[in-house]
Amino acid sequence: MMEVVSLEQFMAGIEKRNPGEPEFHQAVHEVAATILPYIADKPIYHDMQILERMTEPDRIVSFRVCWEDDDGNVRVNRGWRVQFNNSIGPYKGGCRFHPSVNQSVLKFLGFEQQFKNSLTGLPMGGGKGGANFNPKGKSNNEVMRFCQSFMTELCRHIGPNIDVPAGDIGVGAREIGYMFGQYKRLTNKFEGVLTGKGLEFGGSLIRAEATGYGAVYFLQCMLDRINGSLDGATVAISGSGNVATFAVEKCAQLGAKVLTMSDSSGYIHDPAGIDAGKLEWIKELKNVRRGRISEYAEQFPGATFHAGRPWAVACDYAIPCATQNEIDEGEAKLLVRNGCKGISEGANMPTEVAGINVFQDAGILYGPSKAANAGGVAVSGMEMSQNSVRVSWSEEELQKLLLETMQRIHDRCFRYGEGKGKDGRCDYLLGANIGGFVKIADAMLAYGVQ
Ligand code: NDP
Repeated sequence: MMEVVSLEQFMAGIEKRNPGEPEFHQAVHEVAATILPYIADKPIYHDMQILERMTEPDRIVSFRVCWEDDDGNVRVNRGWRVQFNNSIGPYKGGCRFHPSVNQSVLKFLGFEQQFKNSLTGLPMGGGKGGANFNPKGKSNNEVMRFCQSFMTELCRHIGPNIDVPAGDIGVGAREIGYMFGQYKRLTNKFEGVLTGKGLEFGGSLIRAEATGYGAVYFLQCMLDRINGSLDGATVAISGSGNVATFAVEKCAQLGAKVLTMSDSSGYIHDPAGIDAGKLEWIKELKNVRRGRISEYAEQFPGATFHAGRPWAVACDYAIPCATQNEIDEGEAKLLVRNGCKGISEGANMPTEVAGINVFQDAGILYGPSKAANAGGVAVSGMEMSQNSVRVSWSEEELQKLLLETMQRIHDRCFRYGEGKGKDGRCDYLLGANIGGFVKIADAMLAYGVQ
């Protein structure tokens, strides 16, 4: 019989085996803190070292990405693919292009992805990839050359039944198009190897909308249980990329007033609310002109631009949609003090551990990212299905499936988290971790020691 270890012993092992990887340690800590107590009386998981195995990626591929800029200079970046766990399906997870990308960030994202994909109920394992390339300020041709070079190596490691990458920070429709084109050219295969593709070449309707819409649906599901509503509520949102844009859109459709959006330079505060018309202007700003959110304050009277993050703005609900660790303990306290009643995480791991504790101690709704932002990967899974049978489902069908999927994810989290939070409330973090863990763990048990 293997000994049951304490959280401290478990984390000491993680830190020793993965030195200098703080984001990965943080993500594992958040999961282990809830899973270790859950499996304390389930010796089979200890004997088979399931949690230990889940924290060790199946493999990590790291490679040189060489490309030429518009001035003819040779540039060198580093690319990665972290294939974390394929126990319940092919590896699946996005690619991030951002200067802050390193192995720790991609391991945290790949680790989280296994649980998220499991929660969707679809047959997808967990993976993540990317490069420390900064697409900001690069010409279209430079981005194209980078994507082609990145895919030239990546194509050896992926496939529709092996590993199916998608977008993430810095990787949107443009980058997916360049990468899919290069894969097709190198392999002479037109197949569903990436998701988030253009509609002309195998993409799915509502994939772009899915993560942002899903995060709002998750909030709505939590609210439904306590007879709350988004109608007439104020919402603070961070980010102005793919996830943020569609979170704003869905909030506005449901009658909420969205007060803020942001990018890495600062945030805009619009007390009148960001409505559908203003959002169309933002989409054009970000996707066509590739401009900065500060321009919003010049365009719309009454709106102001500020340095920093938007969490000092009083709101009923907050939906962080930019990046990891964008809400620290102080900001979490500020949100609670200003009357915030719930958080739904569109970004991955946007709240530091101390911030999560603040939300949970205050007893407000807290929808963790691995559940709240799973709508994107769920529709990616639906894109894989459509590609496999060579059909395109209607928007109506997909909208219904997304809503049902988010409800199912909510219900799974509720099933495991009910009564485990402050004053008998639901602990959605615990529910999401256990709800995601069980399916993967049981598949791993079925495979024996490997
Ligand atoms: P985008 O690249 O489309 O947008 C990212 C937004 O966040 C931009 O406004 C960007 O500002 C801002 N941002 C990025 N890094 C920082 C930073 N370090 N500090 C402040 N602001 C920052 O990415 P997505 O919208 O696709 O992704 C956002 C988050 O959602 C990520 O955590 C991602 O992992 C997560 N996610 C995305 C999914 C998807 O379907 N796309 C699925 C599930 C999760 P700037 O332009 O100045 O860099």
